[in-house]
Amino acid sequence: MHRFFVSPGQVRDGTVIFSPRQARQMATVLRFRPGQPVLVLDNAGACYRVELSALGADAATGVITQQSVAEGEPGVAITLFQALLKSQKWDYLLQKGTEVGVSAFVPLVCQRGVVRLDGASWSTKAPRWEAILQEAAEQSGRGRIPTLGQPLSWAEACRASQGLALLAHTGPAAQGLGKVLNAGTRPERVSIYVGPEGGFTEEEVATAQRHGIQAVSLGPRTLRAETAGLVAASAVLYALGELG
Ligand code: SAH
Repeated sequence: MHRFFVSPGQVRDGTVIFSPRQARQMATVLRFRPGQPVLVLDNAGACYRVELSALGADAATGVITQQSVAEGEPGVAITLFQALLKSQKWDYLLQKGTEVGVSAFVPLVCQRGVVRLDGASWSTKAPRWEAILQEAAEQSGRGRIPTLGQPLSWAEACRASQGLALLAHTGPAAQGLGKVLNAGTRPERVSIYVGPEGGFTEEEVATAQRHGIQAVSLGPRTLRAETAGLVAASAVLYALGELG
């Protein structure tokens, strides 16, 4: 069944008012008719089974027939702090990371990073990235749309770590990821840091260590940055029993 995220304000008195964009998609792309059942998620943990009651070119409403708790959210919230990637690779990371179960993405500005984002390009790109996250969350059956943070400098990103904080690192100081995850109690939040193609500088690694961010290895092969983010998130979810 097709899934649609709405804001909690769009759900009122047993009915759902869809956005004009969603109405257009339902009417012209999906060719829905009144009576069509859909799933609606309020991005706050609720899931509704809804039957479309009225559908025009840019307005659609539906009646709630059933309410449940949204499924699809992992029991651990992963924030992926990732050095900015070139446009298509960043799109790919957001889409695939959402499918895998990442809860928040934060772009990093690193010393060896080659992609820079000024304020103007952030404001043109952010809405497109938000749309990728929403579409991937709808497609994959997430209960909430992952959030996209503002780009952070390394110092800001280190200060923003929450829960178990892991620096994906290729250097000799890195311990095996499995070993680190098995050592402590089960975390509710995990912050993962992934560097640019040029890797982290010694200074960045030292700053991370001062903030209690542990260097972890993802194995003896050097992964592309976008692969590393997805592998790290998947491995953490698997180790914590979240991939079934
Ligand atoms: N030339 C760089 C490689 C960078 S790969 C170097 O030697 O460090 C880009 C990023 O992916 C790295 O900064 C790291 O965060 C992550 N990464 C890639 N392969 C990894 C591995 N085997 N273990 C841990 N992190 C890895």
